Amino acid sequence: MNKEIQTDKKYNLIPEFDRKVLEVLREPMESGHITISRAARQADFPARFQLIAAMNPCPCGMLGAQHGQCRCTPDQIRRYQGKISGPLLDRIDMQIEVGSMAHDEMLQAVQGESTASIAARVQQAHSIQRARQSKSNCQLPVQDIDRYCTPDAAGEALLRAAMQRLNWSARAYHRVLKVARTIADLGMASTVGKSHIAEAIQYRRALREY
Ligand SMILES: [Zn+2]
Repeated sequence: MNKEIQTDKKYNLIPEFDRKVLEVLREPMESGHITISRAARQADFPARFQLIAAMNPCPCGMLGAQHGQCRCTPDQIRRYQGKISGPLLDRIDMQIEVGSMAHDEMLQAVQGESTASIAARVQQAHSIQRARQSKSNCQLPVQDIDRYCTPDAAGEALLRAAMQRLNWSARAYHRVLKVARTIADLGMASTVGKSHIAEAIQYRRALREY
């Protein structure tokens, strides 16, 4: 729901890309490399990247907004959100809803944490990951997720319940564990607990269901 992005022609919102183009992202997002096939030749290239994308909740951008009214029909909303396929969404670890703000709210905004102190925290969490497993959490293969990201009993129970209720794939399960491990690292916690799992779960629930 970011009007600045919507009106600035330098950026495209993710549903504006051709669906076929978006689907091509799935392979490198999963494996960190991409295979290009042309005629009889085939080549493999490294393609490890961080995908950051934005979209509106509906074509008019006002669905769920505190100030203003959505003019879209349920069918238009379904079609717009449906431009991002389930398998692609499944590979996006953190989906965050950013609500619009009223003008006076913006003027009264309190000073948040400085970029420098957040950067220091991220650096520290990254060092913890390198020391523990010689790579970032996002690069952990499945067998290492079981080894390094296993939550405590309460966290495991919460994750299993969410998985059943939200009908998640095994991929989503492993991706939530990696995000929860990172949240624990940012808080310098050695064990992944229920609160880390709960936070990681809510990052997967931004889009409204119709
Ligand atoms: Zn709308």
